[in-house]
Amino acid sequence: MSLSIVDRLRAGPVLGAEGYVFELERRGYIKAGPFVPEVVLDFPEAVRELHREFLRAGADVMVALTYYAHREKLRDVGREGDLEAMNRQAVRIAREVAREGDALVAGNVCNTWAYDPDDPATKQTVRGMYAEQLGWAAEEGIDFVISETNDYLGEALIALEVITELGLPAMVTLAPTQPDQTRDGYRYADACRILAAEGAQVVGLNCDRGPQTMLPLITDIREAVECAVAVQPVPYRTDAAAPTMETLRSPDGERAFPIALDPFGCTRFELAHFALQARELGADYVGICCGAGPHHVRAMAEALGREVPASKYSPSMDLHPMFRADVAARDAAFLHSWTV
Ligand SMILES: [Zn+2]
Repeated sequence: MSLSIVDRLRAGPVLGAEGYVFELERRGYIKAGPFVPEVVLDFPEAVRELHREFLRAGADVMVALTYYAHREKLRDVGREGDLEAMNRQAVRIAREVAREGDALVAGNVCNTWAYDPDDPATKQTVRGMYAEQLGWAAEEGIDFVISETNDYLGEALIALEVITELGLPAMVTLAPTQPDQTRDGYRYADACRILAAEGAQVVGLNCDRGPQTMLPLITDIREAVECAVAVQPVPYRTDAAAPTMETLRSPDGERAFPIALDPFGCTRFELAHFALQARELGADYVGICCGAGPHHVRAMAEALGREVPASKYSPSMDLHPMFRADVAARDAAFLHSWTV
């Protein structure tokens, strides 16, 4: 019997891996713009493979690819009729791969773009969207739910209510696109305190910010709540001038988000360092979001002291013909001309 998310969090950091939409877009299976995970029905093997890569890299949770697989988004791409099939299949694929290791399966919902804090009628619309998605996910079999990239505390609370009614543990994370508060005016730490008080087992932040601009916000959240804290940044080099991936600009002033972010990508070493910093700050669920690759996840796992299936192929630069310590004098001269 596999340990629950709550037990695993108690035992030490849980390693998360997300960014399925970005990665599958890069691989040619998802259209940038709408970013709807049609791949789940059209190329299930591609989804299975990416889950497996994250599993081998050490991810403790397989997150079902239902991000943006909600009614509003599917209507945009003319596939509303595939809504149920897409949601059910995403969970089935995540479950199949989770069983290849010892991973948990998370159902997944996100901001709907339908929520308007000034229009009470939208609450019912959003609630209906979450209830149908998570109802199908629960029937297929999930261990907990991740509600993520929430811009509004109000919308996050609707998701939490639906998750709680299903009797499942909830991880609810906010999208820190603003300097220090949600779009409905709650400081991130205060919003997390409210979510924890309403019963979320894990609260925190995901997406939008890179490690160095997300971690300072985590310090406040850690102080504000007793429950587990999640931190899942994007692997991009955001800084004080451009604290989110949406604000990053190329040297000639072009917006890099969402499909020209490559030059800002973090190395695996930066993510390894982030994992250690996150653990030191007291984060319990340490992960990565849009832009993630399996090499980042493995480096994070190993930084946290784990050996994972993909560690079999972790770098051994001592065996590189040019970097090995016993490189012959002739090769040393070759290397010198190679690298200066
Ligand atoms: Zn993301």
